[in-house]
Amino acid sequence: MSKLIDSLRQVPPLSLIHQREGALARELVQEPGGFGLGQLPSRHLPEAVTKMVCGYCSTGCSLDIHLRNGVAANLSPSTDYPVNLGMACPKGWEALTVLDAPDRATTPLMRNASGKLVTVDWNTALTEFVSRMKGIQEQHGPHSIAFLSTGQIATEEMAFLGALAKFGMRMLHGDGNTRQCMATAVVAYKQAFGFDAPPYTYADFEESDVLVFTGANPCLAHPIMWERVMRNRRSPEIVVIDPRMTETAMYATQHLAIAPKSDQILFYGTARILIENGWVDQGFIDQSTEGYDQFARFVEPFEVSRVAAETRLRPDQIVRFAETIHDRNRTSFWWTMGVNQSHQGVRTAQAIINLALMTGNIGRPGTGANSITGQCNAMGSRLFSNTTSLMGGYDFKCSDDRAKVATVLGIDPNRIPAENSWAYPEIMEGILRGKIKGLWVVCTNPAHSWINQNQARDILERLDFLVVQDMYHSTETAVRADLVLPAAGWGEKEGTFINSERRLGVLKKVHNAPGHALADFQIFQLIAHYWGCGEMFRRWSSPAAVFEIMKELSRGQPCDISQISDYAFLEERGGIQWPYAGKVPDVRQERRLFEDGKFYHSNGRARFVFEDPRPLTEPPSEKYPFNLLTGRGSASQWHTQTRTSKSAVLRKLYPEQPFVELNPADARKLGIAPKTWVTVESQRGEIRAMAFLTPAVPSGVVFIPMHYEGTNRLTDPVFDPYSKQPSYKSCAVRVVPG
Ligand code: SF4
Repeated sequence: MSKLIDSLRQVPPLSLIHQREGALARELVQEPGGFGLGQLPSRHLPEAVTKMVCGYCSTGCSLDIHLRNGVAANLSPSTDYPVNLGMACPKGWEALTVLDAPDRATTPLMRNASGKLVTVDWNTALTEFVSRMKGIQEQHGPHSIAFLSTGQIATEEMAFLGALAKFGMRMLHGDGNTRQCMATAVVAYKQAFGFDAPPYTYADFEESDVLVFTGANPCLAHPIMWERVMRNRRSPEIVVIDPRMTETAMYATQHLAIAPKSDQILFYGTARILIENGWVDQGFIDQSTEGYDQFARFVEPFEVSRVAAETRLRPDQIVRFAETIHDRNRTSFWWTMGVNQSHQGVRTAQAIINLALMTGNIGRPGTGANSITGQCNAMGSRLFSNTTSLMGGYDFKCSDDRAKVATVLGIDPNRIPAENSWAYPEIMEGILRGKIKGLWVVCTNPAHSWINQNQARDILERLDFLVVQDMYHSTETAVRADLVLPAAGWGEKEGTFINSERRLGVLKKVHNAPGHALADFQIFQLIAHYWGCGEMFRRWSSPAAVFEIMKELSRGQPCDISQISDYAFLEERGGIQWPYAGKVPDVRQERRLFEDGKFYHSNGRARFVFEDPRPLTEPPSEKYPFNLLTGRGSASQWHTQTRTSKSAVLRKLYPEQPFVELNPADARKLGIAPKTWVTVESQRGEIRAMAFLTPAVPSGVVFIPMHYEGTNRLTDPVFDPYSKQPSYKSCAVRVVPG
């Protein structure tokens, strides 16, 4: 065996399983130092520097990885990449450090009869996985197992997971943690443009006359994008719409500190002012849109006085905002989680889109209705993960689409479900109702991040079988698992990510995964084999092979990438934005969509979509007088801190203990002194936090960063009705000293 392993180390590990079938694959996974566990393949040695995209946020910065003996020794931001132009935030600089954390999962772990997680080999783990999952399906039906995945693994891995789970293992239900961040933007774009298509390029940050940020704090959450704003030489107006005086709002020329969740009303009122004054682009409206007349009638009741009362802005602030859009030639509208994570997120996002459409601020430099994505590969998930849509941007419910995908994959079309999956909240509810008994969680941490945490943990406890596939065995979800599958992380495997501006970038293996950990891609290959559907995935022999399948799936779609030859070409070009298709693909490095005024609906027109605003689901009350907002706490923290908390450098850059931002006037009334402990309590739970008194939050509002483990004990399980995205940004709480 060791001779065989030595020879296999000289080739990319992913080709192994398709060179040897059956027993050999089982043998390999039992062998310490076997399948994928050896040193980096020699053909990757030994450039001094190689480039790859960062594995945290959707900005998609490129990092120069400095190699010693073919293994990453250090990194620095790439100076010649069109995204980050030599910059990186603290998370990027520390990306390698977190790979060597002591709580890396290095071997499969299985819960024994005494309830303890104990080390097992891969063969035992995979045999257990298959027998338990199949057993549940036999007892409770094929749809009684589900998966929850992520926006953090390579697109090729997402595609493999989605195809394996749905076509191979016959699951119907599977969703991603992208439901928590981007589902609203997906639905808003699909309904308005006919496809999930963020239209911009990062050059638009530098080319705008007016930048409007709604529910977005790029200073902290997307610092390199913010650096691009700072490079704007057009003396831009920067309008920030946010209840808090965020770090971004401090730089604004106009900060519209609206009442929580009143942004939709503000945008309808702004549209009314633009229409009333004739400040619209009638030519663009006539040529490229539909539904404008109905929209113009709809916004008539949103007079300035009403909007001022509901947003708590002054009338002159609202009028000035409309004038600013009219006065300058190029306005770009940007939004993130303050819009997406809302009980009416989709319609709010569409209210932003409507402003861009009616003023012709789309398809030109420095314009656009631009959703900024969260995770490094949320955009890959949106197109290829088989969750919100059939892989390649198709529709599960359309028989032609199923036939096309089946043809490309060489499978029976009947293997493809003809209905959509339950969304994440429906999967959680399905567990609660006893419909789902087995759950496979890949690279996400719902026991920390899901809304209404106490209930979420109770739901996870009800499963018959919980599998967690992750880099770390210590996450709040992994410690609850029946089986932990150790996964390689960013830097330890290959593939591609797609960033916020639709740019595909390359991932590389520059670090050896610890112990027996395997790339997610390899784990999916093994599960396919153990499940008995390995033959279906014979062509899925490597990430590069799956990239070819993705290219073919995308052909003719708005996201067509069929003319990207390979990873090397992507790297040479500094990443490539989709689409990249046709006989003569547009080779510009910075490309925006809709330059020709044509959208993806069958008539080529964008749609105005609108609806009456909905009341807050849990407004402040006598008992719970504060509105709690949650969000990003610093540029050095990432989501549930699974990775960032492993860096001593990053830990120095944010408070270790949870803190709550509270207005000094409210603190005085409650007898709360600065930097003293308080308890923040909602109807669902409580958290102790350090009081941070600041006028950055208005009276009646408090803010707690989302990264702390207890924050979601407080949040209210309310969802946008169209996107099913959780509303993390508003619930009623009280604050008491102590
Ligand atoms: Fe990585 Fe995002 Fe930081 Fe860039 S901004 S270095 S992509 S975490």
